[in-house]
Amino acid sequence: MDFSLTDEQDAIRDTFRRLVDEKIAPHARQIDEVAEFPWQAFKAVGQLGFFGMRYPEHVGGTGHDVVTYCLVVEELARGSLSVAAACTMQSLMGTYFLYRCGDAAIRDQFLRPALTGDRVGTICFTEPGAGSDLSAIATRARRDGDDWLINGQKTWITSAPVADFFTVFAKTSDEEISPFLVPRETPGLAVGRKIAKMGVRASVTSEVFLDDCRVPGRYMLTEEGQGRRVLDEILDKIRLMTGALAVGAGQGALEAALQYAGERVQFGRPIRAFQAVKMRLAEMATQLEAARRLVHYGAWREDQGLSNRQQAAMAKLFASETGLSVCDSAARVLASYGYAEEYPVERHLRDVRFTLIGGGTSEILKLIIGKELCG
Ligand SMILES: Cc1cc2nc3c(=O)[nH]c(=O)nc-3n(C[C@H](O)[C@H](O)[C@H](O)COP(=O)(O)OP(=O)(O)OC[C@H]3O[C@@H](n4cnc5c(N)ncnc54)[C@H](O)[C@@H]3O)c2cc1C
Repeated sequence: MDFSLTDEQDAIRDTFRRLVDEKIAPHARQIDEVAEFPWQAFKAVGQLGFFGMRYPEHVGGTGHDVVTYCLVVEELARGSLSVAAACTMQSLMGTYFLYRCGDAAIRDQFLRPALTGDRVGTICFTEPGAGSDLSAIATRARRDGDDWLINGQKTWITSAPVADFFTVFAKTSDEEISPFLVPRETPGLAVGRKIAKMGVRASVTSEVFLDDCRVPGRYMLTEEGQGRRVLDEILDKIRLMTGALAVGAGQGALEAALQYAGERVQFGRPIRAFQAVKMRLAEMATQLEAARRLVHYGAWREDQGLSNRQQAAMAKLFASETGLSVCDSAARVLASYGYAEEYPVERHLRDVRFTLIGGGTSEILKLIIGKELCG
């Protein structure tokens, strides 16, 4: 693997870094406090083309590789994991099935406007009785003439309070799962209560209820029963993206800790002059760099078309656990101010816990890695 970035990758990362430093990070605390969908930041990120980065030009995207995508994801999360979570839902899971399996009309009506940020999309797997175990979903789709009728309940759906369309996973038989496009205005679709959360508060999440939602046959987005197979195409990318989110939150916390350690004076010296603090900062930076490299290596493997199940799971596992421990360490450097809302570290610490869950919990990832190792 070539570890150097291309000039284009550098330039794209710098463009988003500037956006984050100027327009997102300064408002991140307020975005968190208000806990509403971060429209202004979302639109600004969309204007720079983030939502179309992973899609080809003929559908309105820019066709960038996974390494470049992860570089940008890290930058967004460094400023605000809430904003990054809302934007990655839009650029990856919330739009993928429309791109991959939607017909021309679906792409024109839903995908293209989503890639500019003019419409919002999301994906619905999770249910009250089905989290890690997708096969346990109870949402059902049954044929009615040329249409499908969908019934069920989803929960924890990112962006649901503002979404214009939903990719809903439903069973078409006891074993088979298929994704369906369900526009918000579909009669029978209701968005329920917003879930009050510890972190990523502005990446709003809700329950979604589907009561005899009628959609045309062409809104079934894969061949019947092929939902899991097509989901498999992006599962590793979702995990690498989540790893990049964790690295970004950790980097935001590290930068805040470095700044604080230079300014805070105790016993007549800036605290970074104390060896214990300096060593803690050195460990944080080293762990984070290792996590970043694992994510980039996994992203590079994706770009080469290499098999990646184990590598992506390792990258996500290591990056999310590292992100959490780095944010915790940053809070220790700030001590009481690491506990204060006026500093960004407590927000990063709350937010980064999300990366332990999305894309598979650490336990599920270890099962995957173990299976690759031991069969
Ligand atoms: C902020 C946020 C946003 C989300 N956004 C979305 C979204 O947009 N769309 C969506 O569909 N979902 C979304 N989710 C849901 C998320 O995907 C699920 O929470 C996740 O799949 C875990 O499911 P669960 O919470 O039900 O945990 P469970 O699956 O109930 O797991 C509970 C515990 O049991 C452990 N466990 C489970 N099975 C095993 C096993 N076989 N072996 C060992 N341990 C096991 C888990 O590791 C965990 O520790 C979101 C969640 C959060 C927190």
